[in-house]
Amino acid sequence: MPPSPDQIIRPEILALSAYHVPPASGMVKLDAMENPYSLPQALRDEIAQLAADAPLNRYPDASAVSLKARLQEALSVPAGMDVMLGNGSDEIIQIIALAAARPGAVLLSVEPAFVMFRMIATFAGMGYAGVPLKADFSLDLDAMLAAITQHQPTVIFLAYPNNPTGNLFDAAAVSRIIEAAPGIVVIDEAYHAFADASFMNKLTQYPNLLLMRTLSKLGLAGLRLGLLIGRPEWLIQLEKLRLPYNVGVVTQLIAEKVLQHPDILLQQAAAIKAERAALSSCLRALDGIEIFPSDANFILLRVDEADQVFQGLKQHGILIKNLDGSHPLLKNCLRVTVGTPDENVQFLAALQASLKQPIN
Ligand SMILES: *Cc1c(COP(=O)(O)O)cnc(C)c1O
Repeated sequence: MPPSPDQIIRPEILALSAYHVPPASGMVKLDAMENPYSLPQALRDEIAQLAADAPLNRYPDASAVSLKARLQEALSVPAGMDVMLGNGSDEIIQIIALAAARPGAVLLSVEPAFVMFRMIATFAGMGYAGVPLKADFSLDLDAMLAAITQHQPTVIFLAYPNNPTGNLFDAAAVSRIIEAAPGIVVIDEAYHAFADASFMNKLTQYPNLLLMRTLSKLGLAGLRLGLLIGRPEWLIQLEKLRLPYNVGVVTQLIAEKVLQHPDILLQQAAAIKAERAALSSCLRALDGIEIFPSDANFILLRVDEADQVFQGLKQHGILIKNLDGSHPLLKNCLRVTVGTPDENVQFLAALQASLKQPIN
């Protein structure tokens, strides 16, 4: 008898459901926190030339020296800190979990949080504990400190701002968590471009703090480039788990080129922030929905019947994220990415129509 998957694959993997990416072709895509703007034509022409001349027959620079130097400068990485690159920050989460998965080790986060924290803990064979946020999605510091005492987590992940809620946690509470943690604390700043806060300048203060960034939400989701910033003593160990050529030639070349023009992505982020304000005030004027404050490039809202509104939007060609059922605190919640002004107008019109639809 040949083996069946359930004899070979670990039970916790058999029990997982795969990360679902819904088809979006032909839709107004407001589900994945992508930057809706493209790069200026002149820069795209330069990128085309770079790609044409790229040495695709050669392995990429395994240590990406030139790109890392550019990133250190563009992100104002504090002196004395190293940078590790990942194929998106998802890969960095995985590297950290693999490294910290001592027997019985626990990865701690909040709930609701970025789902990959829990999934990757499972991939790595780690235990996972998620401490519920308060009903307004703020950190429950007492519950976090109790969970730290109980689980002694080797790693704590906190997204700042948080996904899917969009808010920044209280910085003093996060600092208390870093101080109380027996292991490392990774602050995931995937949405940094849309918030006016960062733990970057706390890296020198806290020896157990690591900081994660990504170019994805900033406008280069297709490139797959994430980075981890922290002390050399941590990064030397984590680098051992990084597969040697995880960041391709073309990604390295294009990221470096775009970072030579940091103003372009920052102007796009500023436009998205302005649209976030405009979209929020339009949403607040509607009856039958609750809007949560956002420091990210998306807005979390609650309606009476999330499934109905989500399906109604889909029928109008608008794809957002339905979070109903993913966590009790997210009952009837929907998450919409801030799009272009035109996309947001389309979304608002379709939303109004969907809110009015009778339940059948
Ligand atoms: C989108 C997201 C990521 C993943 O980013 P990639 O760099 O594209 O892998 C990581 N963390 C949070 C909180 C996110 O929302």
